[in-house]
Amino acid sequence: MFADLPLPKPDEIVPLMIQASEDHRAEKVDLTVGVYRDDSGNTPIMKAVREAEKYLAVNRTTKSYVGPLGDPEFVALIQEFAFQKKIENKFIHGIQTPGGSSALSLILNLIKKAQPDMTIWASDPTYANHGPTVKSIGLKLKEYPFLNRETNKLKNNSLIETLDSLGPKDAVLLHGSCHNPTGLCLDEHHWSKIADIAQKRGFYPIIDTAYQGLGISIKEDAKGLIIMAEKVDDLALSFSCSKNFGLYNDRVGCAFLMGSNEQEIKIAQIQLASLARPCHWVAPQNGAEIVKHILTTPELKDMWHEELSVMKKRIIGLREKLSLALQVETGTKKYDFIAENSGLFSMLPGTPRQMEILRNDYAVYGLDDGRINLAGLSENKISYLAKSIVVVI
Ligand code: PLP
Repeated sequence: MFADLPLPKPDEIVPLMIQASEDHRAEKVDLTVGVYRDDSGNTPIMKAVREAEKYLAVNRTTKSYVGPLGDPEFVALIQEFAFQKKIENKFIHGIQTPGGSSALSLILNLIKKAQPDMTIWASDPTYANHGPTVKSIGLKLKEYPFLNRETNKLKNNSLIETLDSLGPKDAVLLHGSCHNPTGLCLDEHHWSKIADIAQKRGFYPIIDTAYQGLGISIKEDAKGLIIMAEKVDDLALSFSCSKNFGLYNDRVGCAFLMGSNEQEIKIAQIQLASLARPCHWVAPQNGAEIVKHILTTPELKDMWHEELSVMKKRIIGLREKLSLALQVETGTKKYDFIAENSGLFSMLPGTPRQMEILRNDYAVYGLDDGRINLAGLSENKISYLAKSIVVVI
């Protein structure tokens, strides 16, 4: 049956994760996989999640299927959280999905069904799964300029110029906050400009939000989405609860569609659910139940806010300390961008060969393209990491 199938191109991160886990050098710094870690290197189960699990273990009465659209209460809570406010004169309908990845995949499948010759534009660079997802669905993929690799800043002018050349046969994938892999933040001015261009040129914005609350704050990290939603007629949002609730393997997320014609959006919402049918049919409910219990129980919601804020502050602190250590080592401000970036990731200006040397000779594990996950760093390794980077890059 499968004799003619070639081995697919391997995922870059998994072999590096394995290599790092098998490396027992005391100085090891593992900055590969995109998960939050505490100072001792654990990806903890949040206390609010533990409490919700305890409550649900006793009080849940069923594990029966949820409907094809998901649990409406959960979807409404995530909508409220993601958008942070009511968007006037627009209709938003969503469905529950197994994580943000499925949400994006379903949105792209829906686009393919409605407009098969659309081109999807992703940032250069973008999250490693974006390209394969777009291509596997059979949509065209192009890149818009984003990171200036010399300055580690945004390619602001060419980004705007490119978006200003698009039209109604284009959809633009934007990271809601905490860009993966660059950590570059679009400010309110950027978002506003992009929204104006989207409205003028008629391209379709797709926002991928996977780190809300881990950048600046829950509210600030939603600003880009709110600006877009208020200015454009239509957009889609894929939302992940993997990182901000630490529910990675529970697969919790939602796909939302926003538009000004309610009938159109309702039909599209049901189409989304029908696209899920041959795949996972209905979304897993365990993680969604946990999120729902946290968001509807004031003490747990406060506890979760506090934990999320501690996680975010740890990342910001690590960014500041690493930039400072690199300032001291280099005598320059070359690495100040690390403190300016937000979320889990930044990109070191290293070549794939230099990143390999960092791994082999210094036990410093980042990806070949230079991506490092700041949350993988512990305080006592900051100075070692800075010294290693400066020697190799
Ligand atoms: N979107 C972005 C930008 C991400 O960085 C990630 C995970 O790294 C995801 C989506 C995937 O989220 P999930 O695990 O919920 O599928």
